Amino acid sequence: MSNRPSLAKRVLTWFDQHGRKDLPWQQAIDPYRVWVSEIMLQQTQVRTVIPYFQRFMATFPTVVDLADAPVDEVLHLWTGLGYYARARNLHKAARQVCSQYDGVFPDSVAALNTLPGIGRSTAGAIISIAFGQRAAILDGNVKRVLARYHAVAGWPGQTAVHRALWELAEQHTPGHRVADYSQAMMDLGATLCTRSRPRCDDCPLARDCAARADGSQADFPGRKPRKVLPVRNTVFLILQDEAGTVLLQRRPPTGIWGGLWCFPEIKATTGVDEWCLDHFGQAPRDPQPETIFRHTFSHYHLDIQPLRARLAGNPQAVMAADDQLWYNVAQPAQVGLAAPVARLLATL
Ligand code: SF4
Repeated sequence: MSNRPSLAKRVLTWFDQHGRKDLPWQQAIDPYRVWVSEIMLQQTQVRTVIPYFQRFMATFPTVVDLADAPVDEVLHLWTGLGYYARARNLHKAARQVCSQYDGVFPDSVAALNTLPGIGRSTAGAIISIAFGQRAAILDGNVKRVLARYHAVAGWPGQTAVHRALWELAEQHTPGHRVADYSQAMMDLGATLCTRSRPRCDDCPLARDCAARADGSQADFPGRKPRKVLPVRNTVFLILQDEAGTVLLQRRPPTGIWGGLWCFPEIKATTGVDEWCLDHFGQAPRDPQPETIFRHTFSHYHLDIQPLRARLAGNPQAVMAADDQLWYNVAQPAQVGLAAPVARLLATL
């Protein structure tokens, strides 16, 4: 048996000396704050998350406040963070915590795991960090550290690789200081064992890290097999009335940008007259196509052609419905906007 300190011990010692301990979600720790931060940190960097987290907590200080809020307000606070299903699930789960658990988070991985958007790793983070109970985590950062340290080949999306990494995560999770250990592993992955150019010389695992030994850090974790994404096209109709307010429509709750507000979409720029005649009984004035840009989703590219046009008179009187909004850029409504829509509105 080796006398070398365990992985957990080395990571904890490093964390005590170098780890970040002043992040907003590391203060006043409770299950709600840990949960919200974990969800925000999925696919998003710490630096980006900090102001979103602070605004979110100022608006919804407790899970009850979140559950009581309209989903539009939640999506509004999420605008720009992307992956909006996270925000919708956060809201749904908050309502479930209130209805099923009286607003108190359950203290088991299994129970947390049944809530919308809470996977095994997020549940493990809440249990270990907020409740101080032993539970493993395996977020993107921890996956990268463990895959490199043990040279676990293959893409973690494959069941066998995923299972192997979870087994390692379980094995390494210590019985004491588990809250610090979870934070330390995430921090190590985020600050030293970074995707590109890891700082192995400063890493407490460097001596026996398998990937470092042969310089193969870039091979771990294995990449998802590449597929060529299909390209779809759409036209965003940026329709303004004479005062300059812009027509937005709420998207259906499921599908891309579910529940967010968007410009009306038409199939081709040539369809603008027909669309406006159908909806407002008038052809638009002076339609102006703008430069096409690309928005990429995980499963396809969307090439967006913005088309600006104006309507005469008072079109707001013609078209009033719950899923329509005449958006005043100077006094924006507090609603969730799809990222490319927010970007285009900023140019008006
Ligand atoms: S030695 Fe390098 S590759 Fe290995 S865990 Fe540390 S930072 Fe990652």
